[in-house]
Amino acid sequence: MKRLLLAATLALTTAAPAWAWSNHALAAYRAFEVLPEVAQAPAVPAEPLEAFLAAQAQPIAQLLAAQDAWAQQHIAHYPPLPAALRFDPAVASQGPQALRKAFLMALRVSPESRLALYVQPDPWGPAPQGAPMAHDEVNALPLREKDGEKHRFVRLQPGERVAPLAVLASASDEPDYGMDLNLWEDSPSTWGPQYGFGKIPFGNPSLDFATQAPFHMAYHHESPLIYAAAGFLKRTYPLLRLHQYQGLSELAFQSGHPYWGWRFAGLALHYVQDLTQPYHASLAPGYSPARLIAIQLLALMGLPGGKNDMIVLLSNRHFVLERYESQMIQANARTRRASPLEQALRDTSTDAHYGPWTDASLRDTVSREAHGLGEAVTAQMVATVPKGYVDDPGFDFGVHAGGIDLMAEVARQGPQAQAALEGSIATLMRHFGAHSRNLVRAIVQGAAPR
Ligand SMILES: [Zn+2]
Repeated sequence: MKRLLLAATLALTTAAPAWAWSNHALAAYRAFEVLPEVAQAPAVPAEPLEAFLAAQAQPIAQLLAAQDAWAQQHIAHYPPLPAALRFDPAVASQGPQALRKAFLMALRVSPESRLALYVQPDPWGPAPQGAPMAHDEVNALPLREKDGEKHRFVRLQPGERVAPLAVLASASDEPDYGMDLNLWEDSPSTWGPQYGFGKIPFGNPSLDFATQAPFHMAYHHESPLIYAAAGFLKRTYPLLRLHQYQGLSELAFQSGHPYWGWRFAGLALHYVQDLTQPYHASLAPGYSPARLIAIQLLALMGLPGGKNDMIVLLSNRHFVLERYESQMIQANARTRRASPLEQALRDTSTDAHYGPWTDASLRDTVSREAHGLGEAVTAQMVATVPKGYVDDPGFDFGVHAGGIDLMAEVARQGPQAQAALEGSIATLMRHFGAHSRNLVRAIVQGAAPR
């Protein structure tokens, strides 16, 4: 049983060509421009990471130790931080590069993470003043054709004053820039085997971008039947990343480093936003556990057709959902037209109904909500998007995505289909905005002097 589900999930995740909301920053600008705590916060001076680390080495060491203890108690399947990776504040005497590396390795993120001083400007805002910055200076991943539109990065100088909204929104996209790459024992990296996370629980260890999946997806709400067969599905770590960056953000704010307060808050946000995507919060939206298992059994008996079809369909639907959202948000930015999607991102009317943010919110509220919507969102897509893209296992959307104008294709299905699909995406974006703001409210309150 274990082996057969293992095989399925291996294929499932490696087939997924796109990884969540394509550019978190574009959505985050809309979600936070309506939150006074962010939009009206005074500009803050940009500060290099090494300067923050040198100034706060001792409190950071204490915080990371406390976070490791917390995670051992609260995160299932959390492997304790290996003793050799504990952050030693004395490393500061060896210079800024050694300090930076020690910090990144104590967090167990890629030591190649750039964490440069930059912003991704709001396309709705005035043209940026600063110098453009090359992809490789900001992003540790090679430039690839992801969503048809290149990111724009603008350099910040140390000490330059920058709006918190820009820092927060820009950083919310950053965990997709290679920070969670190759962290596994079987990763082709020098750091992975040192990190103690074990072998990659699902996905292909040699597909670099896919290796971040267990940090950006989480299967918290599958049926006990699925867990009994495939316990490794519980080895996902968005909760860990959220806890790490949220704590660092509060520490930075409290110790007078507001730039890193906003920056770490943005990194924390990413993991919350990823889990508002039903295809990140569920193993196989639209498939019942019984059907999943039947498909696996048939595959085991030498009839892999159903399984192969399912993998393609899940991958295509995952991609179509993200592609549509991304195309829409970019098109609206060009014309500065607030469609239902932007209106939903700005809509604060449901924020309070979730109650105050807690350590359990990501698992029990955010990902539960997204998991619960998987079936409905999938049915909606199947009903509104041309069948060939979402209901034909003979077509690989990922391979052809570059040449497909999805918005135009859906528009051709008629205004009703278009409105239904966009309404469905707007619902997800309302959740994206509400949970994002609730987390930042909690950080700002947690960082206030007591
Ligand atoms: Zn992500």
